[in-house]
Amino acid sequence: MKRYYPLININGEGTDKFPIFFTLSEKTARSNHMYYLEEYAPSCFIVHYRIGTTVDFTIRCPKCGKKLNHQYSDYYTCLSCK
Ligand SMILES: [Zn+2]
Repeated sequence: MKRYYPLININGEGTDKFPIFFTLSEKTARSNHMYYLEEYAPSCFIVHYRIGTTVDFTIRCPKCGKKLNHQYSDYYTCLSCK
């Protein structure tokens, strides 16, 4: 099953976001959070966000806490966990 990680601000400016838990329900993630990650393969993520918002922040890896590497579009990967 895919995991969905809601993204939480870890600083006041909201420029750095960290997933503190995961849910197996995309519906839960989507309805309660502005941003969340979908893990579509091990250490590979798609960021989802509401219409009208932009991804202008750093996203941390749910497993190691390091900055995720932006691949293209909404796709991110963790180079440390691979
Ligand atoms: Zn990682």
